[in-house]
Amino acid sequence: MIIPENLKPADGRFGCGPSKVRPVAVAALADVATTFLGTSHRQATVKNEVARLRRGLAQLFSLPEGYEVVIGNGGTTAFWEVATFGLIRDRAQFASFGEFGSKFVSSVKAAPFLGEPSVRKADPGSAPTLVAEAGIDAYCIPQNETSTGVAVPIRRVEGADEGALLLVDATSAAGGLAVDITETDVYYFAPQKCFGSDGGLWIAVMSPAAIARAFEIKESGRYIPAFLDLVTAIEQSRLEQTYNTPALATIFLAAEQTDWMLANGGLEWCAKRTAESAGVLYDWALNSPVAAPYVVEESLRSNVVATIDFDDSVDATAIAKALRANGIVDTEPYRKLGRNQLRIALFPSVEPADVEALTKCIDFVLAGL
Ligand SMILES: *Cc1c(COP(=O)(O)O)cnc(C)c1O
Repeated sequence: MIIPENLKPADGRFGCGPSKVRPVAVAALADVATTFLGTSHRQATVKNEVARLRRGLAQLFSLPEGYEVVIGNGGTTAFWEVATFGLIRDRAQFASFGEFGSKFVSSVKAAPFLGEPSVRKADPGSAPTLVAEAGIDAYCIPQNETSTGVAVPIRRVEGADEGALLLVDATSAAGGLAVDITETDVYYFAPQKCFGSDGGLWIAVMSPAAIARAFEIKESGRYIPAFLDLVTAIEQSRLEQTYNTPALATIFLAAEQTDWMLANGGLEWCAKRTAESAGVLYDWALNSPVAAPYVVEESLRSNVVATIDFDDSVDATAIAKALRANGIVDTEPYRKLGRNQLRIALFPSVEPADVEALTKCIDFVLAGL
């Protein structure tokens, strides 16, 4: 099936990560190909880019006094181990409602030096809440469950023990959904989603209480692998560097994207843009005789990752395949969810007009199937 050129989006990348990298950002990287790439990460040229990224993020998230932007290598998956070793004192509570939330739970359960976590579950497509519980020193929740397209409001747990931390996996939400950072202690993510960069880096916006916790645990003498040592990451970040060699292109592209977001109006602009894209897609689905938003409860429907179910009369796999053959890629659903579904990233890099074009392309494919 050949989709007419005039129906197609200008950019066919709708994947949830790695996701669309803006060509203008890649061109900016090409401009520094011989002066930045391939140079020492302990020298000013690279440290200035780390500083640009950290400063930009501090501005984007309107960092309150004492909060710090900490970075390290290994992406969000590595950060779960960092948090397991360096942020949870004994017992954590998790809101687990999909693949990504459950992976952090597994890491904590496997740690012999931690108490049994409390896990609050909900079926995929919905979300549980965190609830105050005595003895819990860290509450953990994803802001946006990328596997299901469920996004939840982020606020502190009322009645929690004094000093309990709130850790938010914002990997697919940061930079695309609004957040009040004062409601969080650790807002962590990786830059291959809303930040339109490449993978391999973790970024954690940390409160003074979270920083103090990291030092407290380190000083307690707990064994912490050097690569996962959060105190080292905090100290290195303050020097605008990472413990070991980072991917320089990843840092540059993330800094470029952050500056682009700021130049357009910051987080508020980003959240408005993803809301616009989501509006286009969900409205289309609600008006389609064969499609519907997978997330039933409207308030939980994500503006950054949309999941669209299809009627049994239609094979969503065939739609994704036809789109892919026409250069419109990564609309396949999260494999393990096993739904007759398309999943579409609506990160800030994605043009709302391209989302509109995508709906036209899906209609074209549906008519031809
Ligand atoms: C993509 C994603 C991850 C995994 O990130 P990596 O950098 O690949 O480890 C974790 N959590 C959420 C919510 C994600 O969307």
